[in-house]
Amino acid sequence: MVEAPYPELDDLLRAIGEAGRHVADIEASEGAAGNISVCLRWPVEPRTRFPVVERFELSQAVPELAGACLLVTGSGRRLREIVDDPTGNLACLVVEEGGGTARLHTSHHRRFERVTSEFNSHLAVHYDQIRSTRTNFHAVIHAQPIYLTYLSHVPRYREVTYLNRHLLRWQPETIVNLPEGIGVVPFLVPGSSELMAATIESLRRHRIVLWSKHGVMARSDVSIKRAADRVEYAETAAKYEFLNLSAGEAGEGLSVDEIRAICGTFGIRQAIF
Ligand SMILES: [Zn+2]
Repeated sequence: MVEAPYPELDDLLRAIGEAGRHVADIEASEGAAGNISVCLRWPVEPRTRFPVVERFELSQAVPELAGACLLVTGSGRRLREIVDDPTGNLACLVVEEGGGTARLHTSHHRRFERVTSEFNSHLAVHYDQIRSTRTNFHAVIHAQPIYLTYLSHVPRYREVTYLNRHLLRWQPETIVNLPEGIGVVPFLVPGSSELMAATIESLRRHRIVLWSKHGVMARSDVSIKRAADRVEYAETAAKYEFLNLSAGEAGEGLSVDEIRAICGTFGIRQAIF
């Protein structure tokens, strides 16, 4: 939930650009990989930045989101370039009454034909979270961090308890920042309804989910940068784990008792250790 005074459209465009650059800086978005969207439910006027208006059929009816505004990356755009030209790389959708259609607002100099091919998953996650938590703000990032994705190619890391007990043991902050741990879904075809359904389900219980052999999706109801941070926390943990595997598993990691002591001190409720 974001409290008033609400960020202006330009503030949000800048924050999305900075989050995109950050995700690229941590090597989680090669080429045009990855996509970002935010859904906000306070009134904004998109026409000053996005004067071209078209009708847009939504992939699913989202009646409770009528009036909501979604900022979303264009298909084939690079996350690292959004910051230099937000309106060329992003579209703004305003959901119409009834929730079956939206007005698609774009710039005259937009650099894409369609919004990201993962938009259906983004919309479904926003809708599910907003319906259950009533938040007025929700951000989603899909990224392809190398170490997390690599570990998901190793079968034992696709088991959620194994993954979390091994990744959340390298730094005291990890359990504090990801107290629900990292969710896991099996490999599912990108853009498929199966991936969408599994992602929704996992993000009810986690703030970040690992899409096996593909990447991650992270969410935040506070800011887009918070969602980007979650990608980085999880990726840093995976990097430690990879280092440890490469070093012949010489590292101890924090013990269960040490992690429980951290959680006790910082009031973290968790069920992983
Ligand atoms: Zn992807």
